[in-house]
Amino acid sequence: MVIKNALIYQNGEFIKKDLYIQEKFFALNSSGPFLHLSGMYLMPGFVDSHAHVLGVGHKYGYLNLEHIDSQEKLFDVIKNCNDTIIKGRGWSEQVLGGYPDWKLINQINKPIVLKRRCGHVAVLNKAAMDIVGIYKPDGVFKEKELDMVEDKLKDENPEKFFAMGEDQFLKHGVTFVHSDDLHGVSWEQLKKILMKARIRIFEKLYFANVEDLVEFDEFGDLTEKVHVKGVKIFADGSLGGKTAYLSVPYPGEEQYRGIRVLETDKIEDFARICGEKKVQLSVHAIGDAAVHQVATVYQRYPGNRIIHAQLVNRDDLPLLKESYFSIQPHFAFEDQELIVKRIPKDLDVLKYDFLNLFKQGFKISFSTDAPVSPEDPKYVIEKALRMGFSLKEAIELYTVSGARIAGFDIIGEIKEGYLADFAIYERNPLKLEDDPVAVYVSGELVWER
Ligand SMILES: [Zn+2]
Repeated sequence: MVIKNALIYQNGEFIKKDLYIQEKFFALNSSGPFLHLSGMYLMPGFVDSHAHVLGVGHKYGYLNLEHIDSQEKLFDVIKNCNDTIIKGRGWSEQVLGGYPDWKLINQINKPIVLKRRCGHVAVLNKAAMDIVGIYKPDGVFKEKELDMVEDKLKDENPEKFFAMGEDQFLKHGVTFVHSDDLHGVSWEQLKKILMKARIRIFEKLYFANVEDLVEFDEFGDLTEKVHVKGVKIFADGSLGGKTAYLSVPYPGEEQYRGIRVLETDKIEDFARICGEKKVQLSVHAIGDAAVHQVATVYQRYPGNRIIHAQLVNRDDLPLLKESYFSIQPHFAFEDQELIVKRIPKDLDVLKYDFLNLFKQGFKISFSTDAPVSPEDPKYVIEKALRMGFSLKEAIELYTVSGARIAGFDIIGEIKEGYLADFAIYERNPLKLEDDPVAVYVSGELVWER
């Protein structure tokens, strides 16, 4: 393919030139077909270094509770839902004014599962608990208990949700997602789904325990676009759920410091097995005590990744020099209320200080953590600019950097020899106003407005 007269993004500016694509790559020359794009803009596809494609599909395919701001509205939405099992996602105390009212949802006889925005907490009614076989007096399930809920209340058609999720990323010019999807589906189901992926995927598989990881032997490239080469585990929960693991008690608590999901030596077991299997370990760690656990392991296991790293003790930084970070600049703005309310005043650590990490030379890359936050790179870049990143830096951290931390050095730029993952815009995308009109992965058109 030959693209004529487009404005091509290179190193922070647009340059007018012709572009050649041969097979899957940008090349020095090639034969037709010709695509005439006078005045159009071409950007490398964005790389979201941590998100959940299937979860994004759920956000749009299930009841979206993001904007529901009263218990009455919540009850109405549920009452009018025709699904046999009602699943909702996205509520938060900030918007709803509290947890979903358990007495209210108990008035409905169908199973109901309402996940909080963070995905780490859910409220179930009695009919749902009957299926799960675990009873909580307030219907609130957290962390590991939630895994059991997802296991018992699996989706019947996960393919449909994954495709919906892909569309949401593609329409915003994201061509590569480091996705974490092994929740509520079996590996066999997920494998079938991933085989048909249109978007590029670096899949991070969740394992609840190291024994399961030892037995798993299907890592590798599933297709030309789908790379199953990551493992995802959790060191703690979230600040919103008051389950992030802190080094000091939460404000107003005498002892409670959050949830430590894994002992440090268990994290080390994961790191060791990942090394043997030549896959990358990604650990979710938000609280400074969780980050500390990961840092003590990672000093001996370079090339692995920490996800979130919202609260970081300065003393742990030297241990993380050879690690990667998937961070979310927008959380610093979304969490402002939580930062005041949940982080103890005397906790002297880096708080959402991603610019500082970047300036110190740490290998960070941007990500949305969608469906927790919007899938849209414009949203994240806007917040990164407010945080003090330059636009050029933000683009780099949302393209090449994301590719590199997954081990790819020929993704993320429009450059000869690179994989042809790109998006076409009618107007200058750097104004952060427009989404693309067409999106290509490996030189193939996968999305069109
Ligand atoms: Zn996540």
